[in-house]
Amino acid sequence: MDVIPLMEPDLGDAEAEAAAEAVRSRWVAQGPRVEAFESALCAATGATHAVATSSCTTALHLALLLAGVGPGDEVVVPSLSFIATAAVVRHVGATPVFADIDPTTLNITAETFAACITPITRAVILVHQAGTPADVTTIRAMCESRSIELIEDAACAIGAMHRKEAIGARSRLAALSFHARKVITTGEGGALLTSDADLAARARRLREHGMSLSALERHRSDRPLAEQYLDVGFNYRMTDIQAAVGLVQVGRLDEIVGRRRSLAAAYQERLAALGVDLMITDPPDGLTTFQSFWVELPERGLRDGVLGALSAAGVNAKRGIMAIHHEPAFADVAHGPLPVTDRMTSSTILLPLYHRLSESDQDRVVTSLAAALGRRER
Ligand SMILES: *Cc1c(COP(=O)(O)O)cnc(C)c1O
Repeated sequence: MDVIPLMEPDLGDAEAEAAAEAVRSRWVAQGPRVEAFESALCAATGATHAVATSSCTTALHLALLLAGVGPGDEVVVPSLSFIATAAVVRHVGATPVFADIDPTTLNITAETFAACITPITRAVILVHQAGTPADVTTIRAMCESRSIELIEDAACAIGAMHRKEAIGARSRLAALSFHARKVITTGEGGALLTSDADLAARARRLREHGMSLSALERHRSDRPLAEQYLDVGFNYRMTDIQAAVGLVQVGRLDEIVGRRRSLAAAYQERLAALGVDLMITDPPDGLTTFQSFWVELPERGLRDGVLGALSAAGVNAKRGIMAIHHEPAFADVAHGPLPVTDRMTSSTILLPLYHRLSESDQDRVVTSLAAALGRRER
């Protein structure tokens, strides 16, 4: 029996050929393809500037540095997120403050955010969890009136929409991920989107050791130019091999998101017929990418048994999104009650969803879940 994976990137001949072409060109570090990929990201999202990075984690780190966040500052983050959302707050010496979430979107809301604001709140990292857009309009207005920096963790949200606008289009600071499990991939990789030219320039510099001139700029000059080191920077660069793959992937964004959305619609229809009614769907004002497809199990305590039964049927499902406040690395962070986070991390599971998931494999997922829950199609 073939095992149905949870997720598989859709990489084909075009991506392979693009990577090979970058290798043959012998320009493999950050260069012209990274620049072209950044333009393509702007075109795809409506953002004014895109700065490609080695990962979303490094893009978030840059965002916090650009926002001037440091020791003595608090940064509001959801606990229900991948660990990197909170780790970057620690990287700049600030304190994460965990906000609870809405049970239908798994995102921070105006209310859960407001409950975490103190006089030393410097920023919020608003996660569009699994590509489901958070209410960025309301939270942006709250931040503006309180001088709190809004940083969007849009790791899974390229191609998502909120109030008919693409996520990232007007963001001051938004980070994307191109890890293999995200919507589009470069293997590893990320980008910082910003509407502010000065922030973009500083991000480019910090990404490349604080250099005043990039290697590409020096290469294009008709006379020898020497760079200066203006900041204590990092090496957070993407390679041109990755960008070559990313250029093909971003060109396929609508196709890839469209495929995810139609597979999700098929799950919704089949699972509703089984009486499973707690599952991810579009929020009222937005469109999700369905980077993950989650269902909430009808009772607590079912999760491990259901995952075991699915695994025995060759279905690689997974526990719901982690809660950072349960992890040993963050055990020292004080937090208030997080009842929705606690419930959703323990009572949801993620089902396989990827471009080439066949109808018969999707059938197998649905019937295996039905059997595990003792349900029959109505
Ligand atoms: C995947 C993910 C990240 C980390 O992305 P990398 O590119 O692997 O660094 C950060 N935040 C969220 C919400 C993610 O899902």
